[in-house]
Amino acid sequence: MKIGIVGCAGRMGQMLVQEVSNTDGCELAGGTEGPGNPALGKDVAGHAGLPDCGLTISEDAAALFAAADVIVDFTLPVATPLHLELAQKNNTSLVLGTTGHDADGMVAIEAAAKNVAIVKAMNFSIGVNVLFALTEQLSGILGDDYDIEIVEMHHKHKVDAPSGTAIGLGEAAAKGRGVALADVSDRGRDGITGARTKGNIGFTSLRGGDVVGEHTVVYAGESERIELVHKAASRGIFSKGAIRAGRWTEGQAPGLYNMMDVLGLSSAL
Ligand code: NAD
Repeated sequence: MKIGIVGCAGRMGQMLVQEVSNTDGCELAGGTEGPGNPALGKDVAGHAGLPDCGLTISEDAAALFAAADVIVDFTLPVATPLHLELAQKNNTSLVLGTTGHDADGMVAIEAAAKNVAIVKAMNFSIGVNVLFALTEQLSGILGDDYDIEIVEMHHKHKVDAPSGTAIGLGEAAAKGRGVALADVSDRGRDGITGARTKGNIGFTSLRGGDVVGEHTVVYAGESERIELVHKAASRGIFSKGAIRAGRWTEGQAPGLYNMMDVLGLSSAL
């Protein structure tokens, strides 16, 4: 399977190039970068710390989409419209890891997915998606006699809180209980907050050091506590999941899929 990496000189881009190169049955179709990027003209694999592969980092997304079976995109939302257009034109599947699309951006992604297979996920880690599934299932089983608190920790440079993954876990817990997260979300406790409201889902964010990402879903009941924990040690978990998603698109009908579909977890619930 020929896999192309747009934004191949970025932090994720380089890990994706490494993952494709190290995965049996996959071949690097090439890589692009944005205008003016200093990596343009360099070797795609060489720039990712591997032996040169003879493919040059270029600005020509059209040529890359034409040459690839699937494109993996961890870039910027502003690059998405062109990539959606090229995916449809060439019937090239798209794995979309880029985050931060606004409502119009999401509408465009959904429209393109009518014509081509797109896998979009806020978090491509296989372990985190298993955690989503377990959280939904356990929340339904335990009900609101167990207080749910979601605790996350990330490195000191992270600017938003709670993390998108923590919110995703909150949504999974709310779904399992059959409620809307917006109605039960409890964020940012400080001062005299009053007692905990039954049924609420609380969020706490810790920041410090170089922590890649840790998430814990706490179920606190009477005289017992259950905790589901995921700890990420490297961003390599995202590239591994994204390339698995890319391979999964082979033979898939057009549609907007997520990592739960790729892992077969949607039907497991
Ligand atoms: P980064 O800034 O290191 O890399 C992005 C790269 O995209 C840069 O090299 C940039 O030059 C390139 N780029 C920008 N516009 C382009 C264009 N038009 N064509 C080709 N290349 C272009 O950022 P990063 O840390 O690698 O993250 C990239 C994106 O992936 C962000 O949106 C981030 O939130 C997201 N991300 C998602 C997941 C997930 O699991 N879904 C995990 C990690 C990061």
